[in-house]
Amino acid sequence: MDHAMRRRALGARLDELGVDGFLVTSLVNVRYLTGFTGSSGHVVITEDGGAFLTDGRYTEQARHEVPDMERRTYTQDHRRELATFVSERGSERLGFEAAEVSVAAHAKLSAALEGVALVALEGTVERQRVVKDDDEWELLRRAQAITDAAFGAILDVVAVGMTERQLADELERLLRAEGADGLAFAPIVAFGEQAAEPHHEPGHRALEEGDVIKLDFGALAEGYHADMTRTVAFGPPAAELRKIHDVVRQAQQAGIDAVAVGASGAQVDAASRGVIEGAGYGERFVHGLGHGVGLQIHEEPWLGRDHGDPLAAGSIVTIEPGVYVPGLGGVRIEDTVEVTAEGPRVLPTSTKELLEL
Ligand code: ZN
Ligand code: ZN
Repeated sequence: MDHAMRRRALGARLDELGVDGFLVTSLVNVRYLTGFTGSSGHVVITEDGGAFLTDGRYTEQARHEVPDMERRTYTQDHRRELATFVSERGSERLGFEAAEVSVAAHAKLSAALEGVALVALEGTVERQRVVKDDDEWELLRRAQAITDAAFGAILDVVAVGMTERQLADELERLLRAEGADGLAFAPIVAFGEQAAEPHHEPGHRALEEGDVIKLDFGALAEGYHADMTRTVAFGPPAAELRKIHDVVRQAQQAGIDAVAVGASGAQVDAASRGVIEGAGYGERFVHGLGHGVGLQIHEEPWLGRDHGDPLAAGSIVTIEPGVYVPGLGGVRIEDTVEVTAEGPRVLPTSTKELLEL
């Protein structure tokens, strides 16, 4: 992975951000910029490269994971090591991640960095992460391929009387067997009327003939997340659920078709939502259309009514409309989609038909 390239891209923006150094403390952002996967590490970006700081527990791990930049290990208060580094570089205006530093930590940082102006920055690395590079695409595709394989395998396992919890455990086992490093998130498994909850926690509800089965899950590959939802039926479903599945499927396709470089999150959301509203279920689509995904399961860009930012080539979004009817059940269909100049490119290969198991 070319972490050095990512750091150079960020370093080149320091002027425009109004700083001469940038302290990155979000572990996800630290991983993105350095490859470090431990639980304690900071990076300071300067125009001439910067440094990675960690404590003694991670000296060895950092030597392997962060081979291509200056590394410093602190044994006491990390702020002292930071202050030494900052004064060596003559930094006068140090950016920090406002969303990551508590008021208490800020006070300690100010005290340790006397004479250095601390500049609050928001979403800087997060925005850089929106457009994925080749290494990231490889991992996103790998995570999705594992997720597709696990979906194919779980269909053979489903049996009358098994509980949501059992199916969720089985899904987890299959994801790992197919090569996942872990779970992108705890799988959502909902049977029958439980599927009316968009984020249902799998429980002890047993599968019955005529239930829909909503599965929202994904594999993790070297920190990158897959996220896919399919809704299938166990035996013939109620006529209204069959109709709802058809509406959601059309809405999902309309959302995919609206994905384009320069389209806003609100426009894509409206294209999909319009289909559901037209079918009379507008009130039952109770969440936004989708989100970006990468080192985090939910990240920029966002697709929803209030999101006007244009989509960039090389970014990825989920398209996940749903209709939820209390007492009856619900249907959601979700794919990850690559935004390209040639149009949308859907990552999952799993069928979106209403399968009847
Ligand atoms: Zn999902
Ligand atoms: Zn999602």
